[in-house]
Amino acid sequence: MPDYGSPLLFGTFITPANAQPEAPVALAVLSERLGFDLVTFQDHPYQPSFLDTWTLMSWVAARTERIHIAPNVLNVPLRQPAVTARAASSLDLLSGGRFDLALGAGAFWDAIVGMGGARLTPGQAVDALSEAIDVIRGIWNEGERAPLRIDGTHHSLHGAKRGPAPAHDMPIWIGALKPRMLRLTGRKGDGWLPSLAYLQPGDLQRGNAAIDEAALAAGRDPREVTRLANIGGQFARGSGGFLVGPPAQWVEQLLPLVLEDGVSTFILASDEADAMSRFAEDVAPALREAVARERGASGVDLAPVKRASVIALRREGIDYAAIPAELLAGAVEPGDNAYAKLRSTYMRGGSPGLVLRPRSTAEVVLALAFAREQPVALAVRSGGHGISGRSTNDGGIIIDLSALDAIEVLDEGSRRIRLEPGAVWMDVAAALQPYGWGLSSGDYGGVGVGGLATAGGIGWLARGRGLTIDHLVAVEMVLADGSVVRASAEENADLFWAVRGAGANFGIVTSFEFEAYDVGEVGFAQLAFDASDTAGFLEDWGAAVERAPRDLTSFLIMGAPRAGQPAVAQLMSVVDSDDPETVIERLQPLADLAPLLQQSVQLLPYAQVMANAQRGHHDGRGEPRSRSGLLEHITPAFAAAASAMLASGEVQFFQIRSVGGAVADVPADATAYAHRSANFSIVALGARAEELNRLWDGLAEHFTGLYLSFDTDLRPERLTDAFPVETIARLRVLKTRYDPRNVFRDNFNIV
Ligand SMILES: Cc1cc2nc3c(=O)[nH]c(=O)nc-3n(C[C@H](O)[C@H](O)[C@H](O)COP(=O)(O)OP(=O)(O)OC[C@H]3O[C@@H](n4cnc5c(N)ncnc54)[C@H](O)[C@@H]3O)c2cc1C
Repeated sequence: MPDYGSPLLFGTFITPANAQPEAPVALAVLSERLGFDLVTFQDHPYQPSFLDTWTLMSWVAARTERIHIAPNVLNVPLRQPAVTARAASSLDLLSGGRFDLALGAGAFWDAIVGMGGARLTPGQAVDALSEAIDVIRGIWNEGERAPLRIDGTHHSLHGAKRGPAPAHDMPIWIGALKPRMLRLTGRKGDGWLPSLAYLQPGDLQRGNAAIDEAALAAGRDPREVTRLANIGGQFARGSGGFLVGPPAQWVEQLLPLVLEDGVSTFILASDEADAMSRFAEDVAPALREAVARERGASGVDLAPVKRASVIALRREGIDYAAIPAELLAGAVEPGDNAYAKLRSTYMRGGSPGLVLRPRSTAEVVLALAFAREQPVALAVRSGGHGISGRSTNDGGIIIDLSALDAIEVLDEGSRRIRLEPGAVWMDVAAALQPYGWGLSSGDYGGVGVGGLATAGGIGWLARGRGLTIDHLVAVEMVLADGSVVRASAEENADLFWAVRGAGANFGIVTSFEFEAYDVGEVGFAQLAFDASDTAGFLEDWGAAVERAPRDLTSFLIMGAPRAGQPAVAQLMSVVDSDDPETVIERLQPLADLAPLLQQSVQLLPYAQVMANAQRGHHDGRGEPRSRSGLLEHITPAFAAAASAMLASGEVQFFQIRSVGGAVADVPADATAYAHRSANFSIVALGARAEELNRLWDGLAEHFTGLYLSFDTDLRPERLTDAFPVETIARLRVLKTRYDPRNVFRDNFNIV
């Protein structure tokens, strides 16, 4: 019999007795302390002397930190499988991915019937378990958008909502004994969990053969099914038979179970602390050593096995076998548990063929080297809020930098900070607050450092403090050829110039150094106006903002007209002052613009203004349609044209952010972001690309350019809108030097 090459793990199997309810919990905590990988409990809730299994497992999860927890095995007929699925994924989410599921078709039928379960023949019980597995996996599959429908003999679901998915790729082990259950294990299980005490000589071999045969018939690799075993015994001086004797004898007797019968997880049934300690100290390490030695000699394949169901979903053009070993743990492909949470971005639905999640610059280099050789699209993702930048794709590779999310203070004196690209701006603001510092980024805290700090950064403090990139002092970057360089005013100065406005074209920034500045509390105002005279309101607001001192930055939002309601303009404005008088003085001219419908003005730490985003994964769908323009002044002609566009109903979201002020102090040729003279950045989102383009193109005469972060139009003219002639000429020369093969193209691409 083969050694399937799975990692060798050890667990405990503790009686959930309720006589001293703390006792099983204490043994679980001890299991973790002793280094066991897993703690398990039997599930017999009809037994009055036992604690309820789910309650106990939840309690144990809360009292431990590292060890995995599993039922041994869960009595499936007692609970609706959809409920079991959610209980399992909930506990997995709460415990940080430490729950594993082991299922049984049920035993002790009288007791089960007594608890409300149905009496089934053994054959029916296997079929019911098979359907239950389909239900559980279906509920976990939250990436599938259609509701779950299963028309089974024992379990039927008529459009159940999916999710949550477990935190980790949760296995389903099966407590099988008889041939039909063994075949089910081979077809659908991720593990076989028998108790050796119930097996006759030869049963292990026969069981493995049945499982392997069923697995192969189902197109699976038999190694997908981990072989576990509950074991029991006694430590004694002299030998008294199987697992009765000194630890060395245990090692000797367990070793062939690994090498010849493929068992890789041993679960010790014991409620004795001494026996658990002896096993952990004298058996497990010696067995590990012996197995490693034997496996080394036999050369058994120890590589992790991908499920056949995952392999079936692989996309063409990606050589999955060549993924560097260092990246395998974080590599996610369609069908993997984590895929649903990684495939899409905030604004865009995606179906990538592979997501790589490097954890260091060195791993970014490896990921890029791999991706460069694959003839598919490459996306770079930091916070996943890209609008123009496409940080997801269909069938391509994503280098996801979310694990690179450090926020560090390098030097308090000079306020020098280091940010990694996967950090998000609300966390940056929160980390700087204790120092009394800030760094203007954008208006939304969930946006990532990587995408924004390579493009510009039009934020709440823009007029007083400039763009985010205006405070950037150095970057570390992985270039298209895999070299890692530092760029600053002193080193690779031309690259540093390009990164500040067109960074996505030149490489992957793995670290940003900024100089933060003092920011205390700020005045944060949310004002809603009746903007029935939309053109007049836009014009007056623009003039008021331009007249205001630089400590006022104001953003205006309007939407499509709503039947029977006046046009509403919302202003979100920040006054960079903690003096209430100053705040009111700055806001009063805005409040006088039109009838106020709602108002709220607060003095808040800047970090609190930024704490406006939900955490969690992105679930964008479809493609955003967004257009951008940079404008010097809100002239009567522009205001009238914008008002007409809004009246068309084609634009669902229309925002004007004030720029100007300190942004314009920086010379146009100092950074690749060059449209410094604009006082306003305008964005419009619509559902229909053609209509939006037609309307927006009609406004073109008013614009001096566009901000590339907000425009999704792929027509080539957009490049010359984003960059003035001299800027684009210089960028083209640098692109040829730094990325001649245009590896970084799935963004506002310089060609
Ligand atoms: C709700 C919302 C609000 C916004 N508000 C503002 C705002 O107020 N002001 C403003 O200026 N912008 C704003 N933006 C635009 C935002 O700054 C850009 O979309 C930015 O690219 C998002 O960065 P990210 O890392 O989250 O995005 P991602 O989707 O991860 O990346 C977007 C693109 O940036 C490039 N990129 C990402 N990481 C790196 C890296 N490490 N090195 C090189 N290139 C990289 C890639 O081309 C990528 O496709 C907003 C966007 C959204 C969705």
